[in-house]
Amino acid sequence: MYREGVKKVLMVEDSKLLSSLVKNKIESELNFEVVCVYSYQEAFKLLESNQDEYFIGLLDLNLPDANYGEIVDYVISKGIPSIVFTGDISEEVRDVIWSKNVVDYVLKEGSHNIEYIASLVNRVYLNESIEVLVVDDNENSRRHLSNLLRVHRYKIYEADSRTSVRKVMQEHPSVKMVFLGCDMLRADGLAITKDIRAAYAKEELAIIGISTELDKKLSAVFMKNGANDFIHKPFLTEEFYCRVTQNIEMLENIQKIRDTSNKDYLTNLYNRRYFFETGRKLYANARRSHVKISIAMIDVDYFKVTNDTYGHEAGDYTLKQVARTLKERFRESDIVARFGGEEFCVLATNISPEYIYRVFDNLRRNIEFLDIFIDKQKIPITVSIGVCAKPMSTLEEMIKQADSMLYIAKQKGRNLVVVTK
Ligand code: GH3
Ligand code: MG
Ligand code: MG
Repeated sequence: MYREGVKKVLMVEDSKLLSSLVKNKIESELNFEVVCVYSYQEAFKLLESNQDEYFIGLLDLNLPDANYGEIVDYVISKGIPSIVFTGDISEEVRDVIWSKNVVDYVLKEGSHNIEYIASLVNRVYLNESIEVLVVDDNENSRRHLSNLLRVHRYKIYEADSRTSVRKVMQEHPSVKMVFLGCDMLRADGLAITKDIRAAYAKEELAIIGISTELDKKLSAVFMKNGANDFIHKPFLTEEFYCRVTQNIEMLENIQKIRDTSNKDYLTNLYNRRYFFETGRKLYANARRSHVKISIAMIDVDYFKVTNDTYGHEAGDYTLKQVARTLKERFRESDIVARFGGEEFCVLATNISPEYIYRVFDNLRRNIEFLDIFIDKQKIPITVSIGVCAKPMSTLEEMIKQADSMLYIAKQKGRNLVVVTK
């Protein structure tokens, strides 16, 4: 079955049992398609026409028609990061594997390894959207680190001084991990660490130092000033990747915990608590710097009827679609929240007074014309919107005003926008 937009994994392994176990595991738990071939020749035929379709390769080191890991060299030469399967992991084989710039290797034994493969495939897939900054004024060590990270598909930026770190961080504020190479560490490393920590907490961005035997004391100082971890040189590639993955997973786990307390489970929008917590700060800052704020209360019309007619599940699905439309229409810097039930609240900044009505009326129309289908049946949906764009002394007062405007929109017949005069 061909599913559009589904990412593909290439598996080259002559054991059909192992292939099918891995394929089942990955396809049942992750949204990827695993294409299995059983020899070097078949892989060759496949990649000569379609190499761009695959984001990762799972490769057997010993194939019937390629005994010495030739498949690994070939697939990697096509720019596809690869994980290697092997039945034997002597020191010698291990060195051969790591010399090929692989993502990792996995032993062919035990079901826990299949689980490990699936999580690794997903990790490498997710890494594509993780931005990493590598800092060192020694070009060779900087390149070496960058290349190691590229194998795991991280998105890499490089910098060679405190000034260039500032510049990169300004251009790419969503960098998640910063590596400080050992030469940098001795020079401006501490200042860079402090710069970054002034803007990002340890739980938002990981700083990892690379140090040598000589820098042991330095490592302690850095940790106290905000570095998350240290890797001592010379390191094994295998250890390096373990540390990097561990740090990224730590950041992701903290993000997940934050999301559960700040976000609404059904729609993944912010919840009411987060709205007030962050909204109050945003409101105070905006008033101080004369930034325009508008608050909109949005309520689905006759939602009880929607539930009664199409069922509660269809109702939930409808709310998710409305939430998605809201998220798409506003910026990252605005706050879009689900206040409860079928009621949403938006805090938007910098909309000029003459555009307020148009912005929210476009939103209203977008929702009215959403194509929401359940069992081939179209579910009609509209919202009423009350907007307060007049500065008031508190956020709460603006919300109250927006609520009164919403009430008027409902009174006037619904599917309407009413803005404070
Ligand atoms: P109005 O146009 O006046 O807003 O009418 P309404 O029916 O939308 O308003 P009312 O407040 O009377 O009803 C809201 C309904 O929303 C009742 C409740 O069952 C439903 N609802 C609240 N939360 C959820 C939810 O999470 N999922 C679903 N499916 N329905 C919900
Ligand atoms: Mg309603
Ligand atoms: Mg309501």
